[in-house]
Amino acid sequence: MIPGIHASTGGGLVKALDFLESRGLGCGQIFTSNQRRWKGREIREPEMKRFARTGLTVISHASYLINLASTSEETVTRSREALALELKRTYLLGMRWTVMHPGNHLGSGEDGALRRIAVYTRDILFESPRSVGVLFENTAGRGTSVGYSFEHLARILDAVGLPERTGVCLDTCHAFAAGYDISTVTGVDDMMAVFHRTVGLERLAAFHLNDSMHPCGSRRDRHARIGRGMMGLAPLRYLVSMEEFTGCPGVVETPGTDGDRFEDVVLLTGGSGEPGQSKE
Ligand SMILES: [Zn+2]
Ligand SMILES: [Zn+2]
Repeated sequence: MIPGIHASTGGGLVKALDFLESRGLGCGQIFTSNQRRWKGREIREPEMKRFARTGLTVISHASYLINLASTSEETVTRSREALALELKRTYLLGMRWTVMHPGNHLGSGEDGALRRIAVYTRDILFESPRSVGVLFENTAGRGTSVGYSFEHLARILDAVGLPERTGVCLDTCHAFAAGYDISTVTGVDDMMAVFHRTVGLERLAAFHLNDSMHPCGSRRDRHARIGRGMMGLAPLRYLVSMEEFTGCPGVVETPGTDGDRFEDVVLLTGGSGEPGQSKE
């Protein structure tokens, strides 16, 4: 795996990239805009130029407000616009993927929610630059969220039908909270086998590497520092070392500062920030 962190953009996008590069990380994730606001920001020329120069794989994480599963016309309109603009920013920064939580059905039922997410995502991808795509992140399953099971993700991907432009970002904390017991090395193998049977490993484009504050199956989404949660260090270290995922970005999204998350990367990779894998 290519280790990296979610880098804070509080000081701007360029500062976030500076941090990732200064620590010798091979990948990173950023919010290109305030993740809790509908109004997106514009990407500026110096930011585009700076990102064009990096050799890092950087992915974006879309706004938490986007909910393509909603049955409210207003929410869907805003969500579609927000995702389209997120993909535009992703494109302008020379990145390939934006990670999105599938959505919440808010009582309308899961089947319709999965269908709406797929139909709207497909529309938006057709209207977006062809070099960018969406990674659906598995969820902890809190409330009425969908995407907590690999079956959900598979159904969305199948219905979108654009395999080059969609994939999955697998969050270990969310998977654990949703009931995939990866507190052991065997548990990791079992989960990946289920993932392969339902979604297919070839659709797995990124990982979020987080421990969990709450137990397996709790459906509660609280990330813990690496090795300090209910999952423990060994299974996460094992996952990071798996040969199948050599070229795959693995983003640490644990609480604290960028420096704390970098420490977690060091812990995961058992030494320097780089696990001796080539940067691809
Ligand atoms: Zn997320
Ligand atoms: Zn995540």
